[in-house]
Amino acid sequence: MNLDDLPVRDELRGKSPYGAPQLDVPVLLNTNENPYPLPEPLVRRIAERVAEAARHLNRYPDRDAVELREALAGYLTSSTGHAVGREQVWAANGSNEILQQLLQTFGGPGRTALGFAPTYQMHDLIARGTGTHWTQGPRGDDFTVDLDVALAAIAVQRPDVLFVCSPNNPTGTAVPRETVLALYEAAQAVKPTIVIVDEAYTEFSHQPSLLPLLEGRPLLVVTRTMSKAFGAAGLRLGYLAADPAVVDAVQLVRLPYHLSAVTQATALAALEFTDTLLGYVERLKAERDRIVTELRALGLEVTDSDANFVQFGVFPNSHAMWQAILDKGVLVRDNGVPGRLRVTAGTPAENDAFLDAVRTSLKELP
Ligand code: PMP
Repeated sequence: MNLDDLPVRDELRGKSPYGAPQLDVPVLLNTNENPYPLPEPLVRRIAERVAEAARHLNRYPDRDAVELREALAGYLTSSTGHAVGREQVWAANGSNEILQQLLQTFGGPGRTALGFAPTYQMHDLIARGTGTHWTQGPRGDDFTVDLDVALAAIAVQRPDVLFVCSPNNPTGTAVPRETVLALYEAAQAVKPTIVIVDEAYTEFSHQPSLLPLLEGRPLLVVTRTMSKAFGAAGLRLGYLAADPAVVDAVQLVRLPYHLSAVTQATALAALEFTDTLLGYVERLKAERDRIVTELRALGLEVTDSDANFVQFGVFPNSHAMWQAILDKGVLVRDNGVPGRLRVTAGTPAENDAFLDAVRTSLKELP
């Protein structure tokens, strides 16, 4: 018996589970993780907060995660200058779960979601998993969202949910504010459309966050995560900011007590260390820019990046290049974008190892 023999739903047939290979090599630059472990004082603070939470684990956690949402709202307000209240924020186990809750609420059978490919593959998979019809429009040759093409896709597909991933994974491309505004207006002109701006990587961007666009746009949702900038991928904490009515709506689909007391305690501890953690982000931004410059100096075509990763190519056989780099102990990602690979910005030493591996591999491969 294998997957294809089981009576799985039609929209899941032939699909593969999402996930990068988890290989045991010295330099892991394939999943856009933050390379810096949490600082020791934060580790101790987490232990304290979790110990306190442990004393009450006989009880269910705060179902509404009020203290955590307040802290997240505070972070959004101070980092963007746009005032966000706790009633506008919702949290879940990773932004993937946030996206799933949004699609369970606003997508589903008979409804359509639209994104601009290549983009984060989970948008497609979560759509399918929730019975939402997934459609995608193309990006331009430089991987930006071409407004005319995007507007045409909206007119044809008439989406109920529109994904704008900025900065986009796997290309690193930020979407300009004006483009997001035009997409929002165009979508609403067809029908009420939830526009999800996936800002998983926004802290690494040269551009400001799109969060202030929430003002006066009740169907706009900005999704965020602590997996990248906060260096806490293992924590599983994602969140959204939107009109309070959107937060009310996702209550219809969230499982009761979905966010454990241990998760809430850990996230609160991490938020106490925001300034320290954002200091690592500055280092990673500088390293990201260095990777772009050095890869270009090697004659490669490198997509402008506003994220903590860089897309590079163009290789006649990108899988052979991926393997050649791996043979030198560095794991990067092949996202299936023709001729391209993606590398996550690591520590300076890891990035040096990566750049050396590329240099050598370019000499080996024709
Ligand atoms: N959105 C984008 C664009 C991502 O790249 C990722 C992680 N790879 C996520 C959302 C989900 O992140 P998490 O569930 O860890 O918050």
